[in-house]
Amino acid sequence: MTHTANLTPFGMHTDFLGYNQAAKLVTRVGVIECLRGMTQAIEHNFMRWQDFTKSARIGNYSPDGVIELMPISDASDYAFKYVNGHPINTHRGLPTVMAFGALANMANGMPIFLSELTLTTALRTAATSVMAARQLMRPESHCMALIGNGTQSEFQALAFHGVLGIDTLRIYDIDEMAMRKLHQNLAPYPIEVVCCSSTAEAVRGADIITTITADNTNAIILRADMVAPGTHINAVGGDCPGKTELEASLLYKGNVFVEFEPQTRIEGELQQMPADFAVTELWQVLQKSSPGRLSPTQITIFDSVGFALEDYSALRYMYARAQEAGLLQPLELIPALQDPKNLFGLLHAQAPSSVISDRVTA
Ligand code: NAD
Repeated sequence: MTHTANLTPFGMHTDFLGYNQAAKLVTRVGVIECLRGMTQAIEHNFMRWQDFTKSARIGNYSPDGVIELMPISDASDYAFKYVNGHPINTHRGLPTVMAFGALANMANGMPIFLSELTLTTALRTAATSVMAARQLMRPESHCMALIGNGTQSEFQALAFHGVLGIDTLRIYDIDEMAMRKLHQNLAPYPIEVVCCSSTAEAVRGADIITTITADNTNAIILRADMVAPGTHINAVGGDCPGKTELEASLLYKGNVFVEFEPQTRIEGELQQMPADFAVTELWQVLQKSSPGRLSPTQITIFDSVGFALEDYSALRYMYARAQEAGLLQPLELIPALQDPKNLFGLLHAQAPSSVISDRVTA
C-alpha cells in the first residue's frame, strides 16, 4: 500500500470507498475469497501484536444502545472505527450495527482512506471468528449451530464454510423470517442447512456453536447444560456492558480466549466473571506462547467483542483491493494549500477579499 499515491501538487487527497463500491469489490473478489484474505490479514497483524499502541474502545451509552470509537496505530498507520450497537434499530428500519472509519499516515497525520465499515465489519467479525476457531475447534469439526440469523449471520456461515470446511449448519432465530432469509441466501452454497425450532435443538450434535444474537440485556442464549464436551463456542453477540449471551456457569466449564483482555473484561461475557478469572489473549495462541485446545473433550470459548486491530487489518485489506480494482473516489476532506499557513486563502479562492462578507465595525 502506498501513501504517496495520494499526493497532489499542494497536499494529498483522501481516497473514499462507499458501501456500493465496497459491495462491488466483495462480489468481484468473491465473498469467500474476501473472507479468506481478511482472515489472513487479521492473523498476520495479531502475530505482530507487540507493534501496536492499543486501548479499549470508548463507549457512549444510551438506554437503547451504544456508540463506540475504536482507535489503534503502529509506526506507520493509524486507524479508527466509529460503530454503534442498537438492537432495537431493526424495528425502526435501520441496521443494529452501522460503521465507518479511516486510515491515516502516522508520519504526517494525513487521513489517506475513509471507508464505509458496515459491510466490512461483518466480514472482519466473521474472519476473526474463524481465525480463533482454527486454533481452538477440534480439527474434525464439520457442523456448526448458528443462533441469531440477522445481518452478520451469512458472513459467519460462509467464513466457517469457506475457511474451515464446515458443511452443515443448524440455524435458529426467534424471528422466523430472519431464519428463512439466511436459508435462502445460503442456497447457492454446498452447505446443508437445518432450520431448528429452538437453541437447544440447534446445538444438538454441533461441533461449534456460534451465538450472534442482538438484545440489550444479560440474556441466556446458551445454558451450560446444552453444551457437549469438545464443543468450541464462538460467542459474538455479547459485546457491551449489560449485553451478554452465555450462562455464567458455562464459562467455568471451558477455557476462555479473548482479543484484548482490558476491553473484554468490560464488554464481553467476561463482565459476568470475577476480576481474577483467567483468560488467554488470542495473540498468545497464535504466537505459540500459550496453548489453544488442550484435549478433544475440552470446551473452548472465544468471547468475541471486536477489537480495533481487526478494523485496522480490514481497512488496509479493503484499501489495497479497492486500489487494485480502481474503485476508490477522491474526497476533498483536507484542504490542499499552496501555502500551508494560509488556510484563510481558501476563502479568497472562493471570493475576492473585498467580497468576503463580514461587516467590519469600527
Ligand atoms: P441483527 O439485529 O441484524 O440480528 C440479530 C438477530 O438475533 C435477530 O435476527 C434477532 O431476531 C436474533 N435474536 C435476538 N434474540 C434472540 C434469541 N434469544 N434467540 C435467537 N435469536 C435471537 O444484528 P447483527 O448485526 O447480526 O449483530 C448480531 C450481534 O452481534 C449484535 O449483538 C451485535 O452487537 C454483535 N456484533 C458483534 C461483533 C463482534 O465483533 N463481536 C461485531 C458485529 C456485531
